[in-house]
This record gives sequence, C-alpha cells and structure tokens, in this order.
Amino acid sequence: MQCKICSSPVEKAFEAEILQKYQEGFYKCQSCGFLGADEAHWLSEAYTNAINASDTGIVARNLSLYKIVSLIAYNIFGFRSKNVIGGGGEHTC
Ligand SMILES: [Zn+2]
Repeated sequence: MQCKICSSPVEKAFEAEILQKYQEGFYKCQSCGFLGADEAHWLSEAYTNAINASDTGIVARNLSLYKIVSLIAYNIFGFRSKNVIGGGGEHTC
C-alpha cells in the first residue's frame, strides 16, 4: 500500500470503528506522516446527517459563536437589535 500524498510505503497505524458499524484500518506514511484510511467507502454515509450523534460540542460551539456573529453583524454590517436575520434575508421587526 502506498501513501496517497507522496506514494511512499505506509504502515498500519490503528483500527477504528466508523459510524458504529465499520471496522476500518488507518495507515501512516513512513515518509511524510500522512495518516489516512484505505478506502473511505463510508464517507458519503458519514455526511448524510448534518448533526452527528458523537459531536458533543455542537451546543457549546453555537453558544460561543453566536456572540462573535452578533458582534460582526452589529459592528461591520450595522444590524441593530430591531433587525432580525431570517432565511429569506433581513427583516425589520
Ligand atoms: Zn507520504
């Protein structure tokens, strides 16, 4: 097996369970250190849901990022508290 980046030989680094059903091997390149899976046949399945059950930080990220987005919206784009950003654009309440 060869590295997908530099074509050097790779060695098996570890195995892991993917999507709670696929036991897959991961390989590390002895030359460049690239770590990758053999064939990610499970990749499209992994992206079918926007929210992954194993993502335990999604609420914390949303709570911290809304403050940053609010600051940017207020300071750069001039949104005020009476403005609400909706799916169809800006609406004034
Ligand atoms: Zn490599």
